[in-house]
Amino acid sequence: MPLTPLAEALEIILGTVDAAPHSEQVGLEDGLNRYIAQDVDAPCAVPPADNSAMDGYAACSKDLPGLLPVSQRIPAGHPPVALAPGTVARIFTGAEVPSGADVVIPQEEAEVTEAGIRLPPAEVGQHIRPRGDDIQPGDCLVTAGQCLRPQDVGLLASVGIDSVLVYQPLRVAVFTTGDELRDPGQGELGPGQIFNSNRFALAHQLRALGMEVTENRHLPDDPAQISSALQSAAKHADCIVTVGGVSVGEEDYVRGAIEKHGSLSLWRLAIKPGKPLAFGEVCGTPVFGLPGNPVSAWITFALVARPWLIRRQGGTLPAVPRFPVQASFSLARPGNREEFLRVCLIGHGRGMRAALTGSQSSGVLTSLGQADALAVIPAGTAVEEGDWLEVIPLNALWQPGYG
Ligand code: AMP
Ligand code: MG
Repeated sequence: MPLTPLAEALEIILGTVDAAPHSEQVGLEDGLNRYIAQDVDAPCAVPPADNSAMDGYAACSKDLPGLLPVSQRIPAGHPPVALAPGTVARIFTGAEVPSGADVVIPQEEAEVTEAGIRLPPAEVGQHIRPRGDDIQPGDCLVTAGQCLRPQDVGLLASVGIDSVLVYQPLRVAVFTTGDELRDPGQGELGPGQIFNSNRFALAHQLRALGMEVTENRHLPDDPAQISSALQSAAKHADCIVTVGGVSVGEEDYVRGAIEKHGSLSLWRLAIKPGKPLAFGEVCGTPVFGLPGNPVSAWITFALVARPWLIRRQGGTLPAVPRFPVQASFSLARPGNREEFLRVCLIGHGRGMRAALTGSQSSGVLTSLGQADALAVIPAGTAVEEGDWLEVIPLNALWQPGYG
């Protein structure tokens, strides 16, 4: 089977999403990182009434400049009465401007005298935040499929909305595989053993998207146990993600198990790291079989599984940002796969450079930990110092809100 380019693989797998989860109403407190199931329009204006942007004096511009008595005091949250003609109101930031007043003079520009307040001339509307300045009734605040960020939740609260219709979190079962793996906290490593890092990274990549990890288990390289875990997870999960065992080795049993109990639509991507990747289904439940090397697992999850999961979650896929940065390294030998290099961004503005964070081996997690971004090198391209590269900020590959 030839290697499948990433863009083609994404088209194939995104084309398989044919359902969204059920929706549920949740309180705003629980709204963070949830995918909204319908557009939400503003039921009211923000601000609801003209209010003062300053501590100072509300006045009628026609009376200015002038020396005027104070007829009322209006702290925020206390309703004003109509401004008596020829007077001013002492007013504070956020307080409603009384009818009859059309300017606010900051207290720094006012002179308090025994005869009254001396105020300079002012332009109509000065330091007044008009009703509906931010939001008009009927404005669309969030759109269906959007993942709610703290600022979106704040925006909804600003119009008095206290609950939202969101999709139920996708239920995802995670299985790592390999006889050599031990969980941290289970004693010292025996000969030939390594710690299982993917189990933790992957579960958190899923949770960062607001999804529910219903099962997170490690399996030995045993075809029977792998088959039975996949079959039983297929009954309750919306999706299964496995790690390891999808390459061509004799001890790679995951791909075989998917084929035995379901079907495989794709494996072997033209990307580096992350060549071996399985996508298929077991008993009708979609399965992603990620490669075991920790960086390959992280990157293939981010680039391939994540967009599918977000779409299946009912989310829209705003494009992951990419921006041009000059390389501070060279790469002499062009590869035949699209390459994603771990880089840190040094300097800023037009002088920013992308530097490799260290070994680009697919098992080296430290260089991923130190990276700010992935530099995208098209297949067949050599890099010389100073070449312009496209980079993807790493945050956009694990935080919700990006495809
Ligand atoms: P595999 O894809 O199973 O052939 O594994 C490829 C490499 O990744 C091997 O060196 C494994 O030991 C390593 N590996 C597989 N799974 C994990 C894991 N969960 N955590 C850390 N390393 C792993
Ligand atoms: Mg293995």
